[in-house]
Amino acid sequence: MSKVLVIGAGGVGSVAVHKMAQVSLTNPDIFSHITLASRRIVSCEKVAESVKALTGVTIDVAQVDADNVEETVALIQKIQPKLVVNLALPYQDLAIMDACLATKTDYLDTANYEPRDTPKFEYSWQWAYQERFKEAGIMALLGSGFDPGVTSVFASYIKKHLLDTIDTLDILDCNGGDHGQHFATNFNPEINIREVTAPSRHWADGQWVEGPALSHKQTFDFDQVGEKNMYLMYHEELESLAKFYPEIKRIRFWMTFGDAYLKHLEVLQNVGMTRIDPVIYNGQEIIPLQFLKAVLPEPSSLGSTTKGKTNIGDIATGQKDGQQKTVYVYQVCDHEEAYAETGNQAVSYTTGVPAMIGAAMMLTDAWKGEGVFNIEQFDPDPFMDMLNKHGLPWQVKELDAPLDF
Ligand code: NDP
Repeated sequence: MSKVLVIGAGGVGSVAVHKMAQVSLTNPDIFSHITLASRRIVSCEKVAESVKALTGVTIDVAQVDADNVEETVALIQKIQPKLVVNLALPYQDLAIMDACLATKTDYLDTANYEPRDTPKFEYSWQWAYQERFKEAGIMALLGSGFDPGVTSVFASYIKKHLLDTIDTLDILDCNGGDHGQHFATNFNPEINIREVTAPSRHWADGQWVEGPALSHKQTFDFDQVGEKNMYLMYHEELESLAKFYPEIKRIRFWMTFGDAYLKHLEVLQNVGMTRIDPVIYNGQEIIPLQFLKAVLPEPSSLGSTTKGKTNIGDIATGQKDGQQKTVYVYQVCDHEEAYAETGNQAVSYTTGVPAMIGAAMMLTDAWKGEGVFNIEQFDPDPFMDMLNKHGLPWQVKELDAPLDF
C-alpha cells in the first residue's frame, strides 16, 4: 500500500495524477490510493472527472491552503500518505516541507522555493532543511520535473554511461509549440515571467558569470522542430549541477523564444506590468505581475489549441577513453499527443510525467535516503527506463564536434 497526496491541481498536477492513475492500473502497489488537494476544490474535481473518464480510476479530492502549515498537517494526518507530491507553486515549498517534517512524511517537488517579493531561483532555503529531514528519518526529492528534473538525470546518465569526465554541459530547452494566442505562457505566468526577466547567469571555471536578461542569442536546429533562436538564461538546475558535478567547467542553460513573445514581454516590462513590488490602485495594493496573470490565458486552457513539439536535452563535451567526445541526450514531446492522453499540453506533460516517476522511485524504494536530495544524486537508470515506458522516450546522439558558441 503506498498512498500519495498530490498538492496543486494546475496543469502539472493534472498530468501527474493522470499518469499515477494509469500506473496504478498495472501496478496497484505503487499508487494504491491517490488524493489530489488544492486551494480550490473545483480545480481538483475537474481533474478527478477527467482521470475517471480517461483511465477509469477514482481519486479522492480535498481542499487545502498549502500556505497554512496547520491545514496541511491536518490533511496529511487524515490521509496518512507515504509521500506528499508538491505541484502547487514555488511559494508553498517551505510550508509544505514544514508540514512533512511535522508528520514525518516524505516530500517531492518540481521547482525550488521562491520568496514572493524577490525572484531568486536558488536552493539555499530548501538545502537548509537537510539536517531536520535527516533527523526526522524522511526524504525530500527536489526538482523532479523536466528542467529541473530530467535534464539533471540526463547529466547523470551521460556521466554514468557516455563520458568518463564532463568538461562542458549545455541544456537546451526548445518549445516549438504554437498556441495561436498573441501572448501566453505555457506554465504559471507569474513564475514564467519572473524566470525569463531575471539576469542571465552561467557557471564558468568555478564562478557565476552574469549578464542582462535575454541578451545572448544563438540559433540551433532542433530535431523534429527545426531552427529556433535560443537565449542564454539562468535556470535553477545550474546551481545543483555545479554543486554535485564540480568537474564540469562550464554549465549553461538556453531557452527558445519567438520574436512575438519577446516583443510583448519587452512592452509589458517597459510599462511596468512585470513588476513584483506592490503599487497602489484605487486605494488598494496590487502587484502588477499578479494582475497581468489574471488577464492572460490560463496555461491549462492552451492545451486544446497548441500544436507542435518540445525538444529538451543536454549536450555534453568531455573525455571518453582518453578521447574528446560530444554527446546529445534529448527528448521530443508532441503537444497534441500530450493533450489527447491527459487533457494538457506538452509543457505540463513533460513536467507531470517526471513528477510521477520521481514519486514511483520513492514509493518503490528504488531511490531512498534520509535528508534533502537533488535528483542528480541518484542512479539515473531506473528513472530513464520509466521515461521510455511512460510517454517521454529519449534519444542519444554523438555529435561530430563540441558546440562552437
Ligand atoms: P498552475 O498555476 O497551473 O497550477 C498551480 C496550482 O497550485 C493551482 O491549481 C493552484 O490552485 C495551486 N495552488 C496555488 N496556491 C496554492 C495554495 N496556497 N494551496 C494549495 N494549492 C495552491 O501551475 P503549473 O501546474 O503550471 O505548475 C506547477 C508547478 O510546477 C510550479 O511550481 C511550477 O513552477 C512547476 N513547474 C516546473 C517545471 C519543471 O520542468 N521543473 C516546468 C513547469 C512548471 P487552485 O487551482 O486550486 O486555485
